[in-house]
Amino acid sequence: MHELGVVLNMLDTLDAAAKRYGVSRIASVSVDVGEMTGIVPVYMHGVWPEAVNGTICAGSELYINMVKAIAHCADCGKDYEVMENARDEVPMCPFCGSTRWTLKQGDQLVIKEIEVAEE
Ligand SMILES: [Zn+2]
Repeated sequence: MHELGVVLNMLDTLDAAAKRYGVSRIASVSVDVGEMTGIVPVYMHGVWPEAVNGTICAGSELYINMVKAIAHCADCGKDYEVMENARDEVPMCPFCGSTRWTLKQGDQLVIKEIEVAEE
């Protein structure tokens, strides 16, 4: 599953960060997840407890903040929401009808906040 790989990747990052800052347990992790990542929050929550078992994040909470996918129109220069303006999965500018675009935001997965557990 896509989500498990993502979580395992995050754990590597969290583990490295924790070592660097001398943290021994993490209580909660907040992540920004872009809509274009294809990550389904409910699946990510589903794999979290198992994946973090025996790691620095064991028993921790996961908070997911979905970030809207925003496209930048290559023709009129305006920005628009991808999901609300897609026709047959192709984003179409609601202002000028162009299907030429670049992604402005929405493909990121960023660890925003880590709450350190009290000893
Ligand atoms: Zn446009």
